[in-house]
Amino acid sequence: MKQPDFSKEYIQKSTDILDYAINNLGAYKGWQAFDPGAGHSIDERYAALPVITKKEIRENFPQGFVPAEKDVEKGIENGDINFVKTSGSSDAFRVTNIWNQHWWDASEVASWQLNSHAARLATGSHPEAILVNARNVGIISDEVDLPFEKRRLGRFLYLNEKTDPNAWTPQLMNRMIEELGIFKPDLLEANPSFLAKLCRYIAENKKRVFQPGLIVFTYEFPSRLHFKQVGKVFKSPAISSYGSTETGYVLMQCEAGKLHQNTKSCRLDFQPLKKEHGGPYTGRMLVTTFDNPWYYMLRFDVGDFARLDEKQTCACGRHDGYIISEVEGRWTNVTLDTAGHMVTLNQLDRAVSNLKDIDEYRLEQPAEGVYRLFLVSRRKDKDKLLKEAEDKLREIYGKQAKTEIIFEAQLAPEDSGKYALAKTLFPMKSIEEYLAKATKTL
Ligand SMILES: [Zn+2]
Repeated sequence: MKQPDFSKEYIQKSTDILDYAINNLGAYKGWQAFDPGAGHSIDERYAALPVITKKEIRENFPQGFVPAEKDVEKGIENGDINFVKTSGSSDAFRVTNIWNQHWWDASEVASWQLNSHAARLATGSHPEAILVNARNVGIISDEVDLPFEKRRLGRFLYLNEKTDPNAWTPQLMNRMIEELGIFKPDLLEANPSFLAKLCRYIAENKKRVFQPGLIVFTYEFPSRLHFKQVGKVFKSPAISSYGSTETGYVLMQCEAGKLHQNTKSCRLDFQPLKKEHGGPYTGRMLVTTFDNPWYYMLRFDVGDFARLDEKQTCACGRHDGYIISEVEGRWTNVTLDTAGHMVTLNQLDRAVSNLKDIDEYRLEQPAEGVYRLFLVSRRKDKDKLLKEAEDKLREIYGKQAKTEIIFEAQLAPEDSGKYALAKTLFPMKSIEEYLAKATKTL
């Protein structure tokens, strides 16, 4: 593969932050033993080091990640930082992080430059509507519908206050449509599953809706189904933004469709999978954050896989940092084919979302070689659809796959507030079994 382009400044930042962390911070001092040192390239040095997972965050939080001269209690008192808990999904434990709003905003602003629509529309004072699970962002009110003013905050409007979109009534969805027309957001940021649900309602009832300048999908893996359903209603460009509480904004989809690394805000390291599991172009992403004086996050395992663009070029002309063809989905959404090879959520999605006229799906793998696909569809010829779905599953998982197709009226999000499109119901082996090279451990 062609190596990505990295600026001198990027290499310098990568070097400075590593040198500082391993010499000064408790969470990283043990890394000194693995560091091959200054005689090696910065990429070689990073590649030789362990990774940080939620486990290490819990064990070293907060002081192991904060410079000694920074007083965490004072920082909270002064409003410079606060502690946030990430919404733990069923797969992983919850973790507390240091939240630095100033740094977060800078990371977001930098990411906007990676898409020409965002760069034009996002001024920092632009009106932005947000359609996400209230469990993740905004104010929860499952019992009572909140009035418009109660869901406004600065330049933001939270369109949804519910934790389960299946509780949306037609009145509530009509309200969302009306409010988009009143608020006229430049940007609409959404959980793709939530916006897709609203769009199915709009399409079915032939409603008209205000067209924002740009739709940004975040929080969840955007399925091709989501893009399709949203594209039927909105002519606005829809793109994917990728990041996490720990790492800020990591990747942004450009107007030409590929994802670019937010090199101003973070360093990205890439651990390829073994060939039989999708490597060398598909691999795990590790993120090192830049310029956050309160919280040093190095080689954090974001839990997602990505597929690198083989030529590391994009029609948009941007060439700084990694160019990613597609995000492949989370480790927790991986399933295994009948030969035991990894199937990423994106691979599954590419096949299943091709089924004609389905609204939603979820794939569960209860045991090796066994696959249960839940489908929501308004098709009348369910027998035919069932046969098509079984064929699809065998295409992906192998001829010996034992399949079951279950039709549902609707699917619900996980306890985390997000939809899981795929998962195994048994514990997976360690991710190390799938990576091309072993990761160092302390
Ligand atoms: Zn591009």
